[in-house]
Amino acid sequence: FNIPTPVNEPVLNYGPRSVERAALKAALEEGRAKQIDIPMYIGGKEVRTGKTGTVRPPHDHQHVLATYHIGDASHVNAAIDAALAAKAGWEALAWEERAAIFLKAADLLSGPYRAKINAATMLGQSKNAYQAEIDSVCEMVDFLRFNVSYMAEIYAQQPPISPKGIWNRVEQRPLEGFVFAITPFNFTAIAGNLPTSAAMMGNVVVWKPNDTQVYAANVLMEAFIEAGVPAGVINLIYVDGPVAGDIIFSHPDFAGIHFTGSTPVFQNIWKTIGTNIHKYKTYPRIVGETGGKDFVLVHPSANVDVAVTALVRGAFEYQGQKCSAASRAYLPKSLWPAIKTGMLNELAGITVGPVENFENFVNAVIDEKSFDKLAKYIDAANSDSSVEVIAGGTYDKSKGWFIQPTVIVTQDPQYVTMREELFGPVLTIYVYNDAEFDDILTVIDSTSIYALTGCIISQDRYAIAQATHALRNAAGNFYVNDKPTGAVVGQQPFGGARGSGTNDKAGSMINLLRWVSPRTIKETF
Ligand code: NAD
Repeated sequence: FNIPTPVNEPVLNYGPRSVERAALKAALEEGRAKQIDIPMYIGGKEVRTGKTGTVRPPHDHQHVLATYHIGDASHVNAAIDAALAAKAGWEALAWEERAAIFLKAADLLSGPYRAKINAATMLGQSKNAYQAEIDSVCEMVDFLRFNVSYMAEIYAQQPPISPKGIWNRVEQRPLEGFVFAITPFNFTAIAGNLPTSAAMMGNVVVWKPNDTQVYAANVLMEAFIEAGVPAGVINLIYVDGPVAGDIIFSHPDFAGIHFTGSTPVFQNIWKTIGTNIHKYKTYPRIVGETGGKDFVLVHPSANVDVAVTALVRGAFEYQGQKCSAASRAYLPKSLWPAIKTGMLNELAGITVGPVENFENFVNAVIDEKSFDKLAKYIDAANSDSSVEVIAGGTYDKSKGWFIQPTVIVTQDPQYVTMREELFGPVLTIYVYNDAEFDDILTVIDSTSIYALTGCIISQDRYAIAQATHALRNAAGNFYVNDKPTGAVVGQQPFGGARGSGTNDKAGSMINLLRWVSPRTIKETF
């Protein structure tokens, strides 16, 4: 099929005197200086309601970056109507024409929009330059380009066999109705992927990002419009989640949800859909990627440096606010002193601060609610004599929502921070006796309701095989001798099961197939 073979977008390095850093600095300065006014986009029109919220950098919460317009029930209805009005034209367009729009969007985001989308992610979500580059440029455009190639493959699939005198064929139709895309704060790439992957397959979409992600979502939408996404195909609304949900999940044309966010929110949405099932024309597709409690397992045979890197980068990149972030670790007693020294040395070199200083490795957590939740767990650990806080344990909200990278050591593998998703820079460690490796596999498998990512660090082939098998249901993405984060589109399709989601693997054909409803046609000659 006639689609360019996708390759992963290279990560630029933003070194101190690079042209990329100069362009990014200029975009950051422009972003800080201009207080923009962000509309919703319904039916191709910018919609301003006059009721506004503010966007502030998490690392500088007194600075107003932008105002954005907040909609109500009438805007949810208008977005559904606009989507349904655009449906016939969009699904009639040849798939190659749809592909061209999304390939152009990828070129825009990796070209003229590169500095702008990176700056928006840095300012709006407090991601450092490197984390912003791999998220809002590389992963975002990889999603677009690889999904276009999977789309082409789906439309080119071999037909079923046809005996003489009969022609059997399968047609891949878009879903009957509209798709609701709900996106989390923590990845610009996820925000862009959820509406575009459904739209690519001929669907029309109502897209509602988290309130804390409006700033980057707006830049994505500008790029999608410039790339040629027609009016009404993707409608971007800023409406309170439950207000939007009440209307959408009662609508007869609701045909699917593409969700990424927390487990409790997704479970409530699923319940609502179940209660309303008789209202819909068709069974809605329910695709959700949700929370995680991701683990690092170190075997006594491990290379200590590899283990230390997996722990520090896995737990603290992007302040631990990745669904895949390492948040519980199981380390062997024999290696614990060396790993502890290595970790504390690494952490001593980490600086915490605003993204405008490119040397800061850890920046602010997303908002006050997240800060307060993390502070509560840290306070509890500090005052609990059964655990030891060996690094961090402090926080400061005077200028931004800063939490010092924190390491808790517990003697109870069921300690609360070994089980619950905190979604911040807090790692909890349990040190096991080397001889109890088999038992620790059972503990890892049974401690948490989640099954998103995990890793083993080991140089022993037998231990790797044993853990890979024993933990086969404990992680949808499992890493050997690497941190449990950093899946690359086209290389490691991403998603978890159990409490972590429906495991429809973002950035894969499995995901795109959820957005079509096949029709089989038999013709007798
Ligand atoms: P969240 O659940 O708080 O919010 C997600 C979205 O749901 C927001 O847009 C919110 O407004 C909306 N929402 C809330 N109630 C709703 C309702 N009743 N109807 C419709 N929409 C509603 O999650 P978050 O804080 O934005 O993101 C962090 C969470 O996302 C973490 O749990 C993280 O693990 C998870 N996550 C998972 C993956 C993955 O691939 N598994 C990836 C990224 C993030």
